[in-house]
Amino acid sequence: QEPFPAPGRIRVVTVANQKGGVGKTTSTVNLGVALAMYGLRTLVIDLDPQGNASTALGVEHTVGTPSIYDALVGDNTLAEVTHPTTASPNLFCVPATIDLAGAEIELVSVVAREHRLRRSIETYLHELPAEERPHYVLIDCPPSLGLLTLNALVAGDEVLIPIQCEYYALEGLGQLLSNIDLVRAHLNPGISVSTILLTMYDGRTKLADQVADEVRNHFGDLVLKAVIPRNVRVSEAPGYGQSVLTYDPGSRGSTSYVEAARELARRGVALPASTAQPMSQP
Ligand code: ADP
Ligand code: MG
Repeated sequence: QEPFPAPGRIRVVTVANQKGGVGKTTSTVNLGVALAMYGLRTLVIDLDPQGNASTALGVEHTVGTPSIYDALVGDNTLAEVTHPTTASPNLFCVPATIDLAGAEIELVSVVAREHRLRRSIETYLHELPAEERPHYVLIDCPPSLGLLTLNALVAGDEVLIPIQCEYYALEGLGQLLSNIDLVRAHLNPGISVSTILLTMYDGRTKLADQVADEVRNHFGDLVLKAVIPRNVRVSEAPGYGQSVLTYDPGSRGSTSYVEAARELARRGVALPASTAQPMSQP
């Protein structure tokens, strides 16, 4: 097992698509586990009140568990709400509890409400000793373009968009892209779409190929070569509080997520060290 190469700087990757059920959570969790298993320190931030990423990583998220809500709306630091995972000693998770459902509204009256998550992450990275700083921070967004997703777009350096190889895959994507443009213009000049991941690909259907071709024509090199197949092991794993990599390492779901993570990691090597945030050096 050759470890994955470390990125040129800490990568804060926002996993977004306002459509539900396209594989955001599944991709965040399995890419996170893959990066960690191959040697890169990774923090998964669950920003969906459903807490599905927390569940899949086996991290408790009942009401009262220190969670992302306490960092966004309350006064907790991110370090105080970060939990270890059993998947890998390199993998940490900030869980989401159902309290987060109220955050969209509670945040409205909070000062600098769009910047809460970014500030939390910056402080966290700044206060951690260099050797403990994550190489990757992955943020799993809810299926909407509300204040939580906005916080994730302001906090991120890049956006990873999972696209399901299904009917209407591209529907609504324009809205997400124009939101990202707005955020770049007004709130976070550093944000851009870096990665498209094709998910739930079913090789038996012509449609899946048509969607994949259309996405590649439109987004070119942003689309990872690795494609995630529709694979029942992927959907079973969360029920056991596991990623597919630990649940069934030999499955096609598992090997494809390892390949996707490897590609993501290789692309990260060339990233220039950030001058704006010297504290962000891994
Ligand atoms: P989102 O976070 O975008 O709402 P999820 O990651 O929760 O989407 O995926 C939606 C559903 O599809 C879940 O039940 C998940 O287990 C299932 N799923 C995701 N990816 C795959 C896959 N490659 N093969 C089979 N089922 C999948
Ligand atoms: Mg989800």
